Order: sequence, then structure tokens, then C-alpha cells
Amino acid sequence: MTDLTAGQLVIVATPLGNLGDLSPRALDFLATADAVFCEDTRHSRTLFSANNISPVSRLFSLHEHNEVEQSDEVIARISRGETVVLISDAGTPGISDPGTRVVAAVAQAGLTVTTAPGPSAVIAALSVAGINTERFIMEGFLPRKAGERASWFASWANERRTIVFYESPQRLQNSMSELAEHFPHRQVCVARELTKLHEEIIRGSVLEVATQLAQREILGEIVVVIAGSDEAPPVDEETVRVCLRERLAAGDSTKDAATYASELYGVSNRVAYEWALVIRKTL
Ligand code: SAM
Repeated sequence: MTDLTAGQLVIVATPLGNLGDLSPRALDFLATADAVFCEDTRHSRTLFSANNISPVSRLFSLHEHNEVEQSDEVIARISRGETVVLISDAGTPGISDPGTRVVAAVAQAGLTVTTAPGPSAVIAALSVAGINTERFIMEGFLPRKAGERASWFASWANERRTIVFYESPQRLQNSMSELAEHFPHRQVCVARELTKLHEEIIRGSVLEVATQLAQREILGEIVVVIAGSDEAPPVDEETVRVCLRERLAAGDSTKDAATYASELYGVSNRVAYEWALVIRKTL
């Protein structure tokens, strides 16, 4: 049980978009804390004014570039018996946002860290995806460099857990079309602008969703949820043969075409190679 007379750090989740998602308990902490550390004081002023919280002089910045220095200030305040709140621009601090280092420092100093939990884009997207949530991995933002993305995708070939990642609207079409080359038949959910006016949840196979997205403009904040390898429907032999034929016709060696199809569809490399040999003779 937390001693409410002693100082403490409270990790407070704030809305992803819809202001109604601020919990009464989160609001209470924001209104009564001695200090509220936030990523961007201008941004958080809007949250304060939308909820009639004052004064804004209790807002202090804590972002990825000053988190270590500000941790000392947070510890000093808590040691004096203050309640210090940490928020991020949206969602839960520490989840792809600053927070982890200050939490570790406060805990290391033997002081109390507690939470007013609430919105987080990862969990919100998983909850509406309709894809197995028993086991999942969160990958953060996809790398911008094509080579790094390719190695992430390769590491997902045998990933059985559901995979979640963030992507920017400018890069979504490109990354979805790359994903479609690797995992065309896996189920995917693109969750856009959750809880906001233009909320949109697109579900289907990777190939279907990539094709749909290639034909339109994409805006806003996005989380992508993709099924793990166990969730992929079994692939029939004809699909693999069509793929092999396409790769061979495009100039792949028999070995390369077999490796590609084997990784893509999970058939044995030896079997794919034998089929590729037969198909090559018909080209
Ligand atoms: N800590 C935050 C949380 O718990 O939700 C996540 C911070 S991360 C820096 C920001 C990313 O979360 C955005 O680029 C986007 O991928 C995702 N995101 C935030 N709000 C979202 C929303 N309303 N709908 C979909 N994705 C969102």
C-alpha cells in the first residue's frame, strides 16, 4: 500500500486523442501534483487548459535529451515529500516515450513509483486488431533504412508471436508493400488515428491491405499489428509453384527462387528446390 504522505513519482497515462479518455484518477493527480514533468510544456498546457487545471507553472520539461539531468530534480522533489507526475505527449510515458530512465533512477533511490494507467497506442491497436493477442512483441518504429527493414522482416519469418510496430504515414505505403513481398498471406491491422475524428481500422491479409493503401493518401498516427507465423493459413502447393515460376521467370537462380519461396511459405527448402527444377524446364 502506497504511503500517501511520502513523496512519490506517478506515471500518468493521457489520451491518445479523445480528451474524454483522461481517467478521473489521472485528472486528480494532474490537478494536485506538486510538479508535472512532460515532454513538451506547450503541448501539455493544452491538456491542462482543456481540463481546467492550473497553474501551468507546475509544468516542467522532461524529454529524451534531458531525462538523466531531470531525474536528479525529480528525486530531490520526491525526497522532500512532493508528488511528482510524469506524462508524455500522448499515451503512457516510458512506452516508446521518455520515462524509463527516470523511473529506474527513482526506484534505485529507494523512492516510490506508482501509476495511473490508461491509454497506450500499442494496447489500443491490439485490442481492435482481431489478431491473436496471447503473445505479442512490440518493435517500436520501423527502421528508415531499407537494409535494416529487410533484416527486421527476415527476423519475423519464424516469429510466432503477433508483431506490433509504429509507422509514419509518409512511409506506410512503402513498408506495407515490402511486407507484402515477405508475408502476403498473414493477417494485418492498420490502426490509424485511434480515438480521433478520423479513426480508421483496416484489416485483411497483408497483400490486400497493401494494395488498398497503395491507392490512397494516408495521414495521421499509425500502429500496425501483424499476425505471427503460426497464424498464417496453410499454403497450398499451387501458390508456392506460382511463386517459384514468377521468381524463375524474373531471372532468379533455381537455388534463390527455392530459398525465397521456402522462407515466404514455410515449405522445406529441398522440396521447393525440386519443384523449381521441374518448373525451370517448362520455361
Ligand atoms: N507512449 C505512447 C503510447 O503509450 O501510446 C506512444 C508514443 S510513440 C512516440 C507515438 C506513436 O504512437 C505514434 O507515432 C503512432 O505510431 C502511435 N500513436 C499515438 N497515438 C495514436 C493514435 N491515436 N492512433 C494510432 N497510433 C497512435
